[in-house]
Amino acid sequence: MTYFTGYRCTQCGAKYPLGELIYLCPSCSRDYHAGMPLKGILECEYDYPAIKREWEEFLIALPHAHEYGKMEELCRLFGPLEKELYPNLPVGKTPLVSTQSLSGEMLYLKFDGVNPSGSFKDRASYLMVAEAKRLGFREIVAASTGNAASSLAAICASAGIKAVIFAPASAPQAKLVQIRIHGAELHTVDGTYDDAFAAALDYSKTHECLNRNTAYHAFTIEGKKTAGLELFAQMPLPPDYIFVPTGDGVILSGIAKAFRDLRQAGLLENVPALVAAQAETSDAITSYWESGNYMDAARPHTVADSISVKTPSAAHLAVQELRDSGGMAIRVSDAEILSAQKMLAQRSGIFCEPSSAATLAAYFNCREQGKIKDQASVVLMLTGHGLKDIQAVKFAE
Ligand SMILES: *Cc1c(COP(=O)(O)O)cnc(C)c1O
Ligand SMILES: [Zn+2]
Repeated sequence: MTYFTGYRCTQCGAKYPLGELIYLCPSCSRDYHAGMPLKGILECEYDYPAIKREWEEFLIALPHAHEYGKMEELCRLFGPLEKELYPNLPVGKTPLVSTQSLSGEMLYLKFDGVNPSGSFKDRASYLMVAEAKRLGFREIVAASTGNAASSLAAICASAGIKAVIFAPASAPQAKLVQIRIHGAELHTVDGTYDDAFAAALDYSKTHECLNRNTAYHAFTIEGKKTAGLELFAQMPLPPDYIFVPTGDGVILSGIAKAFRDLRQAGLLENVPALVAAQAETSDAITSYWESGNYMDAARPHTVADSISVKTPSAAHLAVQELRDSGGMAIRVSDAEILSAQKMLAQRSGIFCEPSSAATLAAYFNCREQGKIKDQASVVLMLTGHGLKDIQAVKFAE
């Protein structure tokens, strides 16, 4: 059994029961069309008092539980589906590495490049594959800049489900190779990620399948939430700041949801401030956070392909989470990203994607400009493995 009680619209607050397949809030999404940020994104609600009771019992029974056991227990308590439905792959429970060698201050690096397909996206695919199994779907479709697709391809392969992918032809080669080796059906879109998003929505309206476009189903956010639950289990105290590489804003929204859930269950008082790290040409969420008005990024063209988005699907929710957590959004240049990538590789031993290195670049930016408190405890989310895009690497200074 689970403590999942139903869905709530993040926009109007309307509640929807569990059971049937549901994507966006029907009333808020009435005038939604592809090419704008999603409207009426749903989130999962839980029986929070029951979770609190069970968590306290767990801590009494196992006062010296290892962080791994705690991570597992929190993901179970705050998870929407029965364990039996989950794919048989080791997704999540990724390491948290502490280091002083990057800035002189202690930094915590949450490295999600060690997931089966090499990125954070496995967390969402994992839950969506479980949902497909619950509903009896044999096929899942997704739009992707590369990682969501390579992830879905891998996790679907483990469960014998067909993955149908819409991705721009410009995606890094390693990600296209992953999609193909796992046997997914690949439709390359002659256009951008945003065009692929629309194509995948069309596909799922006319085919018997589940749609895994980011933020479209509440479980994509709920899957990403697990990283925040893990941080809670891995750290003696929740961090002051969590830097998140941000394109569509779904990883950020998922991590925010973890700490909101923990607070709602009474396991925590103050949520960490979330910091969105964006590439300067793919900065729709940063501009929105600054001005209060939504506008597409004019022409995203960053080396950090995983955060290259014109119309972030979770723009409204992510900006709400930035405000509610007392966080902020930061732009960084491709040059800063690439130098941060090299620094991480050479001083921490972690080779991450350019997208992920944007967090370190944003952290340096915040330090220089006095935007974060001294002695703060800081987590950088390193969301993807560097081998996914070796073309991006620059060795020269
Ligand atoms: C998708 C992705 C991101 C950005 O996540 P959003 O939810 O789009 O903001 C960051 N890093 C990596 C490696 C990704 O694959
Ligand atoms: Zn609504």
